[in-house]
Amino acid sequence: MTESVWVIVPGAGSGVRAGLSYPKQFALLKGVPVLEITITRLLAMPEVEGVAVALPDRKTLASLSLSYEDVERLGTGGRPVLALSGGATRGESVRRALKFIPEQARWIGVHDAVRPCFTRELFLRVFAAAVKSGAAVCGMTPTDTVKTRGSGNVVGKTLDRDSLINVQTPQIFAAELLREAYRLGDSKEEVVFTDDCQLVEGLGHPVSLVEGERRNVKITYLEDLALVEYFLGKEDMGEPFVCTGMGFDVHRWGPGRKCVLGGVTIPFDKGLVGHSDADVAVHAAIDAILGALGEGDVGVLFPDSDPKYEGASSLSLLEELWAKLHGKARLLHLDVTIVAQWPKLSPHYDAMRTNLSRALGVDVGRVSVKATTTEGLGATGRGEGVAAFAVATLQRRRSRHLPTLCRGLCREER
Ligand code: MG
Repeated sequence: MTESVWVIVPGAGSGVRAGLSYPKQFALLKGVPVLEITITRLLAMPEVEGVAVALPDRKTLASLSLSYEDVERLGTGGRPVLALSGGATRGESVRRALKFIPEQARWIGVHDAVRPCFTRELFLRVFAAAVKSGAAVCGMTPTDTVKTRGSGNVVGKTLDRDSLINVQTPQIFAAELLREAYRLGDSKEEVVFTDDCQLVEGLGHPVSLVEGERRNVKITYLEDLALVEYFLGKEDMGEPFVCTGMGFDVHRWGPGRKCVLGGVTIPFDKGLVGHSDADVAVHAAIDAILGALGEGDVGVLFPDSDPKYEGASSLSLLEELWAKLHGKARLLHLDVTIVAQWPKLSPHYDAMRTNLSRALGVDVGRVSVKATTTEGLGATGRGEGVAAFAVATLQRRRSRHLPTLCRGLCREER
């Protein structure tokens, strides 16, 4: 499927029925908050462009040792997570989230924060149906017999089970249609609705129905957590794994510039040309680290069109970047190779290693810097510039982003 979708995750509810002293979307499964599992699963799908998550107010989050910024750090690979303050009702939360979604988004989905077990197949099934008809939801025939409640403690009518559906999320809509449904909802009297499909139905637009999943449990009561844990039991919940990234960069020599390599200013009659200090070794190191994490490249994060980075110390940029990323992974090793015909670099290896290891907060033994010439061959050999390669080996962390939460909550649930 070439289409992509923004997903709204209403996660502002207090979840009193679960009987926890904190909102159930922050309950832990294998040490990872439900909200994080849901968002991570959404972002694992290349079809998802970004997630807008409605959260409790900052004070409530602070009581869980969390901030909006912590949640936004779940964004990955250029797909953002936008955290916002939700409303008193689910509908109000979605309405607020709609304002955060880029105008040009073509498709908008809504998925409950407390449904972490949906599969990619289900999501794509709903999305494909939405692309055909403009709106789609998933649901299942109830397994219990369903009756109406009569007056007093008596049973009313027995309903035809086959005509009934328990509706689940994800629900996906053409962006215009969902925005229109909420605009119309604005002008009506306050109607309490429990899903977004209801508003779209109100526009008279048909909503396609596809088969849901038994495993797509909505955590409402404490027991549901055990069920969700069962379904997620055999899955990879972000187990730590080792990943490798490679970086490469080249800058040309020019007059009137300082020669900065690995954060060391080397006495030389010219320097490398670039928007920042043009420290090619550090640029390669940054790209290697970003590569291991699938987080893009140095030019995207520190664009040379931004005057802020003019003459910037690349080593400081590396330090700044790692401060943001080190929650996601541990640096096991970094190896940098500088390719230059001159100057002689071996006297500066130790200073460069020290600089890099300090910026990355690791022992110097985890960083290696070396250099080579190309025997006069090619652009670097002719002395036109300097190139650098770097290989970074990182170990991803398990609960990557909301770690402080895990400590306080575990005991209460078990
Ligand atoms: Mg560069």
